[in-house]
Amino acid sequence: MRVRNWGRTISFEPELYIQPRREEEIIRWILRTVDERKSLRVVGAGHSWTPLIETEGYLLSLANLQGLISITPTHHLATLWAGTPIYRAARRLWKEGFSLSNQGDIDRQTIAGAFSTGTHGTGKDFGILATQVAHYRFIDGKGHIHEIYPDTDPDLFRCLQVSLGLLGVITQITLQVEPAYYLRLIKRNEKLEEALENAENYLETYRHFEFFWFPYSEWVSVKLIEKSEAPNTSSLLKKWLIDGLWENGAFWCLNKVAQIGIVNSSRLCRFASKNMSEETRTDRAYRIFATPRWVRFREMEYSVPAKWGPTVLREIRQWIEKHKPAVSFPIEYRYVKGDNIPLSPAYGEDRVLIAIHMYHRMPHEKYFRGIEEIFWAYQGRPHWGKMHTASWDYLLQVYPELPLFIKLRRKYDPEGIFFTPYFRQILEGEKQKQPILSAVSSK
Ligand SMILES: Cc1cc2nc3c(=O)[nH]c(=O)nc-3n(C[C@H](O)[C@H](O)[C@H](O)COP(=O)(O)OP(=O)(O)OC[C@H]3O[C@@H](n4cnc5c(N)ncnc54)[C@H](O)[C@@H]3O)c2cc1C
Repeated sequence: MRVRNWGRTISFEPELYIQPRREEEIIRWILRTVDERKSLRVVGAGHSWTPLIETEGYLLSLANLQGLISITPTHHLATLWAGTPIYRAARRLWKEGFSLSNQGDIDRQTIAGAFSTGTHGTGKDFGILATQVAHYRFIDGKGHIHEIYPDTDPDLFRCLQVSLGLLGVITQITLQVEPAYYLRLIKRNEKLEEALENAENYLETYRHFEFFWFPYSEWVSVKLIEKSEAPNTSSLLKKWLIDGLWENGAFWCLNKVAQIGIVNSSRLCRFASKNMSEETRTDRAYRIFATPRWVRFREMEYSVPAKWGPTVLREIRQWIEKHKPAVSFPIEYRYVKGDNIPLSPAYGEDRVLIAIHMYHRMPHEKYFRGIEEIFWAYQGRPHWGKMHTASWDYLLQVYPELPLFIKLRRKYDPEGIFFTPYFRQILEGEKQKQPILSAVSSK
């Protein structure tokens, strides 16, 4: 069967697509892969743009290993099967009286898939999503099951938090959760410079803060989110009208117009920036965190040291104004708290994450490459699941504990069954057949 990812940047045919129902089956597949000297990759929801899941061998999905396994209310701990999509986990936890502490923009990813690439949300006090993990159960490349807690094997635990499917198949994850809570979202439009000036204040005042800036325009859509005691005041119809009809339907039309080229992108961006919806809404936490994304796009995201965030964004703005790329998607600006996870975008310090997007039917290469050079000049770290062309030498500079991760990867996968040509390129510096960004079609 042919497998394609959400962003349509990869398309491949694995030899077999496997959906085990029990851990014993996973072990059998791992041992068989070792015997046959093949490769095995695990797929979550296929929402990464980079070819992390691509393999000519076996592609293993945990779609049959979903759901809540147990909950310890006194310690706010919930153990879930790793294949559970975030939206299912959040709804199920709500029924039990709990919420996740933080989420990203969408909730279609699986827990293991999202956590394994360093997926994050935003907020001064919030690390990447994997900082919510309290325990992993995984099966390594020799077929051995491990139960890992932060204090049983700290280095292995830290490496598992962002492991790209290279240490083994994660089957269960225990999360530190919070009593169920409501969030109030305030969405309003501000001038870009105003938002950057207010950023410190917003970060202190609100639990979550981010903004979207439309290139070529003065305006940003600011999202301020705080906990609320108020009961649910929002109608699902209103949410659907704003998130579905306006943010996706109208936005799709805008991108089609940009693709056909009848109106130039800078005018479209200015039009969109003036028509961004403003609203205040209170709802269950998981309904505020996630927004549906129906318009397909390509994305590159880098983290930079938080203090350089505004400078980097201003440089991006200058580059766009000079080179005038055809782009009709906004740029997203978020914050993540520093951690000690070797492959985390926020390793060692608080970071700002800047994401650029392009409609999937428009060419992205020139735009992404131009901005990527700015990120490189500021010690940017690429999001592992989003498009980038960072080389092994560069990654070694910006991820100081990458050698530790490589050492553990070799220990837990000695036969290299999880290690595909893509990883040999980015994690061993093997010569690339084609530059990573242009390896995917822009059509
Ligand atoms: C529309 C959209 C919005 C997004 N929003 C955000 C956002 O707000 N913040 C952000 O940081 N990112 C965001 N992303 C990126 C996305 O969160 C990541 O790429 C994420 O890894 C995708 O999760 P997945 O379940 O689809 O995993 P996949 O893409 O299928 O796999 C990702 C990696 O996880 C590994 N993996 C999956 N399951 C397991 C397992 N059980 N054991 C071991 N390894 C496993 C895979 O081998 C692979 O290396 C977004 C992506 C899209 C398409």
